[in-house]
Amino acid sequence: MPELPEVETMVRTLRPHLAGRTFGVPRIIRDSAIGSPEPHAFCLGLAGQTVTGVGRRGKYILVDLALGGRLVVHLRMTGQVAFRPLAAPPTPHTRVIIPLSPVAGGESESLHFIDQRTFGKLYLLPDQGAGPITGLATLGPEPLDAAFTAKVLQRALATTSRPIKTALLDQTLVAGVGNIYADEALFRSAIHPATPAKALRPGQIKRLYAAIVQVLNEGILHRGTTFMHFRNAEGESGGHQVHLAVYGRTGQPCGTCGATLQRLVLSGRSSHFCHHCQPQIG
Ligand SMILES: [Zn+2]
Repeated sequence: MPELPEVETMVRTLRPHLAGRTFGVPRIIRDSAIGSPEPHAFCLGLAGQTVTGVGRRGKYILVDLALGGRLVVHLRMTGQVAFRPLAAPPTPHTRVIIPLSPVAGGESESLHFIDQRTFGKLYLLPDQGAGPITGLATLGPEPLDAAFTAKVLQRALATTSRPIKTALLDQTLVAGVGNIYADEALFRSAIHPATPAKALRPGQIKRLYAAIVQVLNEGILHRGTTFMHFRNAEGESGGHQVHLAVYGRTGQPCGTCGATLQRLVLSGRSSHFCHHCQPQIG
């Protein structure tokens, strides 16, 4: 599932291709790919709108439109956005095709929303608010913003006795962190994933805060992590998977101590960790 670094990589590859271009009338192949408004109104509302900017909040892609509205793309499990020649047929997993105005000297092309598992959604909002997207309205702070500090993290964690790994996946607590980067941040800060969030000591929270910022920035630097599905808007895989210390490495030796990496299921999600480097305390 794309997390903050993958969505940020998608935004950075979309921006130069989309800015200043005007959308044509969308072709919706699967109605359930449209979150709101209903598909007909989505097509009417988007056609003729010009893109003024592309940004991100949490795992949501925000495409700003000249009339003040916003196209929001939520990739969820397997969503991808790709540019294809205007005449290119849909792939088996293409859900929506949005024609784009041509750029000078360039060929005509469309933006394809491709989604194998069909959990992803597109939304057209009338303004820059969150509209009906509850997940966007309730997002916690952006972890790479200056306003997100160790103190902010400490205050948020003090309110919950859930395992720290489960708390980090809560998008209302901190936006954009998912399974991969939560596991990596916990390994780097030597915290066992099952530790109750409110039991963490101030020193541990400082280390965790620094680790979250580091692992996300490294993920962006390597243009995201690809196991199966993630491709950026230019069709390239990410490169961060080879730098992961614990995620997806169950049974392999820890690069720090040599102990065998383990897997633990917390709230239905797999956690990957080193029992030696991340001892359970208490
Ligand atoms: Zn270890």
